[in-house]
Amino acid sequence: MSSDAIIAFIRKTFRTDNEFIPLHAPVFHGNEKAYLNETIDSTFVSSVGPFVNKFEADLATATGARYCVAITNGTTALHLAMIVAGVKPGDEVLTQSLTFVATANAISHIGARPVFIDVDKDTMSMSPAALSSFLQQHVKIENGRCINKVTGNPVTACIPMHSFGFPGRIDEIAEICREFRIPLVEDAAESLGSYYKGIHTGNFGLMGVFSFNGNKIVTCGGGGAIITNDEAIAQKAKHLSTTAKVPHAWEFVHDEVAFNYRMPNLNAALACAQLEQLDTFLASKRKLAGQYRDYFLGSKVEFVYGIRDSLPNYWLNTILFPNPEDKEAFLQDSNAAKVMTRPAWQLMHKLRMYENCYCPAELINSEWLSNRLVNIPSSVIA
Ligand SMILES: *Cc1c(COP(=O)(O)O)cnc(C)c1O
Repeated sequence: MSSDAIIAFIRKTFRTDNEFIPLHAPVFHGNEKAYLNETIDSTFVSSVGPFVNKFEADLATATGARYCVAITNGTTALHLAMIVAGVKPGDEVLTQSLTFVATANAISHIGARPVFIDVDKDTMSMSPAALSSFLQQHVKIENGRCINKVTGNPVTACIPMHSFGFPGRIDEIAEICREFRIPLVEDAAESLGSYYKGIHTGNFGLMGVFSFNGNKIVTCGGGGAIITNDEAIAQKAKHLSTTAKVPHAWEFVHDEVAFNYRMPNLNAALACAQLEQLDTFLASKRKLAGQYRDYFLGSKVEFVYGIRDSLPNYWLNTILFPNPEDKEAFLQDSNAAKVMTRPAWQLMHKLRMYENCYCPAELINSEWLSNRLVNIPSSVIA
C-alpha cells in the first residue's frame, strides 16, 4: 500500500481534493455562541458562574463519575490530582514514556520524579505486566507505604495514560496499584467517551483527569477536569483549586497554600455546549474509524482498533507501519500533500529534561511503537 493510495483514501473520506486536512479540528455547531453570549451578558466570565457548576454536573453524568471538579487545563488538573493524592517532593510517580509531555511535567511541578514503565503494544497504554514486574523487583511495603528499595524514595502515585483514546488494561493496573498501596490517577486527557469493560475511563482509581484543549475531542479553548467517586477527594480538589478559601459571603480566609486552578465560566460555557455534542462526535469518529479499519484490512499497515472489551473514542486514529523507514516516508509524503499526520511524541525518557530519570527496564514496546506509529486525520466529519 503506497503513501499515495493512503493519501487518496483520506482525501476521499474527508471529501476534499486539495484543501489542507488537519489532524483534529474542533467543531462548533451547537450552543457555543449562545452560551458564550450568556456569560458576557451576565458579566460572570470568571471562575464563579453557573456554567462551571453545570459543566461539572454534565461531565459527571457523561463519565458516570459521582463527582467532578472543573480545572483550568489538563496539566494543572494532573498537578492538583497528584497533590490531592498525597504526592510530595522527592517521591516517585509511575507513568509511561509514551505520553504527551504534560504527564511528566505535572509530576515534575510537584518536585516528584517520573518513573517510566513500558506500555503494551496493543493498547499503547501502561502494561500491567511491566508494572507488576517493576513493583515486584523494586519496592517494599513499609508502614503501609510503597518504597522503592533501590532509591529509598516513596512511590506515591501511578499515572497510566489512555493513548489517543484507546483504553489500557486499566482494571488490571488498578488491582496491582491496590495490592501495592499506590494511589491510581488516570490521565484520561485523550479518552473522553472511551470505555473499558463498560466503565468510562477515569473511574478505575482514585481520580481521573481530562483535558479540553483545542485539539481534544471536546474543547473549551483551554480546560481540564478531575473526576472521582470519593466525596472527600472531590471536596479537597475543589478547595485547593479555589485558593483554599473558606466559604464566607465577604471575609477572605484561606486555610492552606493553594491554587487558582478553577475553570472560568467563559470556558465552561463553551465546554457545556461542546459536551452536548459528545455523542454526535463519538458516532462520527467511530464511523470514521470503521472506514479506516476496512480500508487497512489485510494490508501491511496495521490500523489500531482497540483491545477486546474496550470501546475507544478514536480521538486520534493510529496506524502502525512495518518499519521506521516506511513510517518516515509516509510522514514526509502525507504532510507534503497537505494531509496532516504526525508520529508519536518523542519518548519522555529521551527528552533532555527526563533522560536521567529512573528507568527500571528497557522500554521495548514504547520504542517499537514510537518507531512505527503515525496518527492520521481524525476530525469529526460534520
Ligand atoms: C492534552 C494532554 C494533557 C494536558 O492537557 P492540557 O489541557 O493541554 O494542559 C495531559 N496529558 C495528555 C496525555 C494529553 O494528551
